[in-house]
Amino acid sequence: MRDSFGRKIDYIRISLTDRCNLRCKYCMPEEGVKLLNHEDILSYEEILILAKIFISLGIKNFKLTGGEPLVRRDVCNLIKELKKLEGIGEVTITTNGVLLEDYGKDLIDSGIDRINVSLDSLNPIKYEKITGRNLLDKVLGGIKLLLEHDFEKIKINTVPMRPLDREDIENLINLGKDNPIDIRFIKVMPIGIANSELGYSKKELLQIIESILGKSSHFDGKKGNGPAEYYSFQNYRSNIGFIDAIDNKFCSECNRIRLSATGFLKLCLYYDLGENIRPYIYSLSENELREKIKDIIYNKPLMHHMNESLIQRDKKNMNQIGG
Ligand code: SAM
Ligand code: SF4
Repeated sequence: MRDSFGRKIDYIRISLTDRCNLRCKYCMPEEGVKLLNHEDILSYEEILILAKIFISLGIKNFKLTGGEPLVRRDVCNLIKELKKLEGIGEVTITTNGVLLEDYGKDLIDSGIDRINVSLDSLNPIKYEKITGRNLLDKVLGGIKLLLEHDFEKIKINTVPMRPLDREDIENLINLGKDNPIDIRFIKVMPIGIANSELGYSKKELLQIIESILGKSSHFDGKKGNGPAEYYSFQNYRSNIGFIDAIDNKFCSECNRIRLSATGFLKLCLYYDLGENIRPYIYSLSENELREKIKDIIYNKPLMHHMNESLIQRDKKNMNQIGG
């Protein structure tokens, strides 16, 4: 479907939980996290009812997120059921990787189309400083398991922030040198508790990366459903991508909406605009529900204003939004 500005909306990020086994500094506060009650979270049955409606509106690509989606029970069953829906496109997941050793094989068997692993440093001390937990080995073990099963649809998502340095960047990009792993640098956004002043810009990073890998060339092909801009390098198997929602605003091409774990249909990362659609599952007929969802999405705002004002922004943290 298209929104009121003519943008094609074909991608939805569905948050399965606000819970997480890490506490990344820019995402979830260590103290005082008020978690949702189980009964307030959409059931898998409700997600599947909504998924059918989204697909009928042309929103056929799904990303499962959270919190940490793999802490929710039976995620792989949900993926299997989603993949059975007529007209479904890609079903992908973004995970911190801590539970990949346990669930990686089941994820592959469920038919997942891509696995994004969020990982900011390969230095165990820095990893613990960023995430609050000493679990780097688990993440690396999980990535190894995916590679051992010849799973080639892996991306690493890094939020590069100081004090990460050249060595951290070099170690991270080395993961994609000979492996089928694209590395993407996501500029930290001023959402919730994040301090965006510490973030690296794409320009700074590209300079560092070119000093390691040599000159880059712009990769013109399409990869996935996101706004990343990719580059290729000689003698480097994968691609390196950048997502910068502030300096390289991509709102005019925004193709996405978000469904929170409670059923709030969120229209823009920055604003709290949207509506909780869970009650409509029970109060409206299928056709009425489709029309209702269509009307809500039609009013997606034109752009965010992250770089100008933080006053109107959604006050939630990223673990409650899903990234
Ligand atoms: N726990 C899963 C994970 O880490 O991939 C899924 C949820 S997490 C909120 C989704 C993505 O949002 C992660 O790649 C994370 O690094 C990113 N993220 C969290 N807070 C952010 C912020 N303030 N700015 C930019 N990206 C952020
Ligand atoms: Fe958890 Fe992902 Fe947020 Fe880190 S970024 S605290 S792993 S939800």
